[in-house]
Amino acid sequence: AAPVRFEGVGKTFGKDVVAVDSIDLQIDAGKLVTLLGPSGCGKTTTLRMIAGLEMATSGRILIGERDVTRLPATDRDVSMVFQSYALFPHMSVLENVMYGLTFSGFDKGEARSRALAGLELVGLKGFDGRLPSELSGGQQQRVAVARALVLEPQVLLFDEPLSNLDAKLRRQVREDIRAIQQDLGLTVVYVTHDQEEALAVSDEIVVMRNASIAQIGTPRQLYDAPIDRFVADFIGEANLIDCTIVRVDGDQATIEIEGYRHTLPSRDLPPGPATLAVRPSRIVIGSDAGISATVTKATYVGVRMEYTLTGAFGQVFAVQDNVDDPLETGAEVKMTFADRGPVLLPEG
Ligand code: ADP
Ligand code: MG
Repeated sequence: AAPVRFEGVGKTFGKDVVAVDSIDLQIDAGKLVTLLGPSGCGKTTTLRMIAGLEMATSGRILIGERDVTRLPATDRDVSMVFQSYALFPHMSVLENVMYGLTFSGFDKGEARSRALAGLELVGLKGFDGRLPSELSGGQQQRVAVARALVLEPQVLLFDEPLSNLDAKLRRQVREDIRAIQQDLGLTVVYVTHDQEEALAVSDEIVVMRNASIAQIGTPRQLYDAPIDRFVADFIGEANLIDCTIVRVDGDQATIEIEGYRHTLPSRDLPPGPATLAVRPSRIVIGSDAGISATVTKATYVGVRMEYTLTGAFGQVFAVQDNVDDPLETGAEVKMTFADRGPVLLPEG
């Protein structure tokens, strides 16, 4: 497994479609890094530039020590798993997995034993004689994973590999992919537009927006310290509340909402209007001091209670683990925030 490095890499289609706008990125060897962002933000193009299926129009791409920017796909030592599996329908599962191996010069016997080992790795031992049409969607995608794995590429690329699977299979196949990646110490670049999937499988997430990188971090870092409203909104659920920074003291800021004050890291923001991002689980509902609010919706969902709180600040969504004595709709409450709860973001 090798690291991947992007230095000012861009891709423009035709004269003026900027699909990727000069990005810098370091993907460490043996890590699973996800490119996450809304449709059209440049994820697939970024992935295809690593594979050599698109040529960068600016910058340099390195795989390990090698500058691969101008190398054709066949010389890059990467493999890609597509959303559509792209299995050959008339070939058996074994032949599908052997195909790339014989293509890259392994003799029949060696290709066969590697393919069988690959199928075992993805949990498809004994399925080698079947046709793709005799497999479920999840099994077909595992064949596609095996086919890419057996080539032992320096980097393995996945483009929305779960999007043709139903919800239950999606969870299972993503866990399989993550387990194999960790067992073999593979470098994986994984594309998805699904934030939950990204949070679940990634060592690191690259959040993309409009052909650029919005933020890079571990799932935890992105969830706990989003850099702006876009990331806060895109990763997990966030309540965004207008507030005023009334004092900055070293790296701490004191904010005010409807007369209630709370102190938290300033993140280099100056006094004045700002936004507070608060996860639903970090809202504390009490009855003493805090921001006045009314419970306008209370829903029991089994493992927790979900509340909508409405006040002069607007509306927030809160979840509480306490399901035994729930609040009722119409209750007047005081809202505060858990200690490590809210994060300050720039205004707007
Ligand atoms: P994503 O995978 O995040 O949905 P893509 O990388 O596929 O985004 O596309 C990024 C942008 O580049 C989009 O605006 C898309 O229309 C454009 N684009 C992608 N491929 C081509 C192409 N072959 N020719 C012209 N425009 C393209
Ligand atoms: Mg795409």
